[in-house]
Amino acid sequence: MLVEAGQWTQPWGSSDHGATCDKCDGAGATTHECWSCLLTGRRDACPVCSGRERWEDRCPVCRGSGRVDGRPRHGVSVYPTREGLYHYLMASGADLDDCVIVELEGDRAEDVDFDADQGAMLVIPTRITGCDAVDRDLAERVKHAGVSPS
Ligand SMILES: [Zn+2]
Ligand SMILES: [Zn+2]
Repeated sequence: MLVEAGQWTQPWGSSDHGATCDKCDGAGATTHECWSCLLTGRRDACPVCSGRERWEDRCPVCRGSGRVDGRPRHGVSVYPTREGLYHYLMASGADLDDCVIVELEGDRAEDVDFDADQGAMLVIPTRITGCDAVDRDLAERVKHAGVSPS
């Protein structure tokens, strides 16, 4: 992750480059939700949403064109809080037993993450500060946090 070759984010699943964007149905804009703030409280200093929590913005998958831009993005996909990350992992059906939680420091990347509408952002990591197995208690708390998706 600390070398350039490991700092690219690939699209999940079947993102067909050039196809009509299924995230925004080709509209080019979509609702963004910062799950870090929705789950832990709004923060004006949030690097993802600056305290907006929910807002309309250019669709991250097609970059507003309505057609999937499936090329890899430069940067490592991260969430500013563990809660936001856990929410994403569970929403995407990831097997938590296979997950390792990596905590890192880095600089904001210029590119936009495919899941920016879920509160993800891309960074260029400069230092790995922690590495942990999934916290089951936290996963349960996030699961039952009762924040309804819009
Ligand atoms: Zn936020
Ligand atoms: Zn789109």
